[in-house]
Amino acid sequence: MSDGAGAPAGTGPFATDVAIIGAGPVGLFAVFECGMLGMRCHVIDVLDVPGGQCAALYPEKPIYDIPAWPEITAEGLIERLAEQARPFHPAYHLGQRVERLEEDGDGGFRLVTSSGAEIRARAVMVAGGVGAFGPNRPPLEGLTAFEGKSVFYLVTRREDFRGKRLVIAGGGDSAVDWVLSLAGLAERVYVVHRRDKFRAAPESVERMRALAAEGRVELVIPYQLAGIEGKGGELTAVTVASLAGETRRIEADVLLPFFGLAMNLGPIARWGLAIEHNRIRADPATLETSRPGIFAIGDIAVYPGKLKLILSGFAEAAMAAHAAFARVRPGEALHFEYSTTKGVPGRDGG
Ligand code: FAD
Repeated sequence: MSDGAGAPAGTGPFATDVAIIGAGPVGLFAVFECGMLGMRCHVIDVLDVPGGQCAALYPEKPIYDIPAWPEITAEGLIERLAEQARPFHPAYHLGQRVERLEEDGDGGFRLVTSSGAEIRARAVMVAGGVGAFGPNRPPLEGLTAFEGKSVFYLVTRREDFRGKRLVIAGGGDSAVDWVLSLAGLAERVYVVHRRDKFRAAPESVERMRALAAEGRVELVIPYQLAGIEGKGGELTAVTVASLAGETRRIEADVLLPFFGLAMNLGPIARWGLAIEHNRIRADPATLETSRPGIFAIGDIAVYPGKLKLILSGFAEAAMAAHAAFARVRPGEALHFEYSTTKGVPGRDGG
């Protein structure tokens, strides 16, 4: 990894203080909070890069509600969180899903990943966001051959679409936001939606309709995706059909379907944790789950009043780290200290 973090070789077994499941913004900040209390971490994520939703879904979008950053891109935030975690030398196991989580018979836990790696930890923090997430795919014949070549479910680099003819399908915020963002960059943007009403923020819809009135995007409404044409994964045209059975063929280079995310807790649902509406119930004072020693932080945690915001996840990481300390270092007193008092152990040789 470019942030200098360790990627341990082999499958272990590895031993650590805290195993963090999920390298999204909250999992990364948990490394820092645990590190400040002298606890070492291993972080596991099914994605190939750290950053969770920020990296996978909206790296170039600006975020405006991170304290003290009036504006920061999602990818910029992840870079800084990785930098903040770096003095604590976390070990990252990327591209692997945690499949099993069980007691190790010695007061701690044993995790097994999809690559067969085994990690033993005194405490576990589940920072799994929305679980294993993936796009809702349109039911089009032959679609998989085009995925990743000319059909994309997320935009990681706007520049990739410069000068291209794009078909953007969907009626929610993602579809409309990307229409607005790519309209000036692409050669042509077609917006396919099955009805005239869009679910996106009204102001964004208004801006999109203004672009359509200026002829800078074309609204193909009310139509649904019906087929794709091309060879070797290179798209040449998209066919759409109306409910009345009319069809239309649009010559295009790229199809961006934005039909939302399929959220699936995956193996997390099988770990015996109390689950509420696809999220893990946690004690708001400690973030501990129904299984002692296992904590849930970030989007995946639910308790009364929970706000699914990155900043809430940061506070939860701090609280969970303090609560986990008693399990990781039993019998050791934990003295609450400000970072200004103790500095960052290991940073700048400190
Ligand atoms: P995630 O970022 O979801 O990361 C969880 C990670 O866990 C994922 O990488 C996943 O692969 C991994 N994982 C899950 N299960 C397993 C497993 N079994 N094994 C291994 N890995 C696993 N929030 C804000 O505060 N402000 C905003 O302006 C804002 N804008 C947003 C815009 C968009 C378009 C979207 C989609 C979200 C936005 N959010 C915003 C929400 C924000 O991104 C989430 O609150 C945040 O990402 C949650 O962080 P997390 O670390 O809890 O989870």
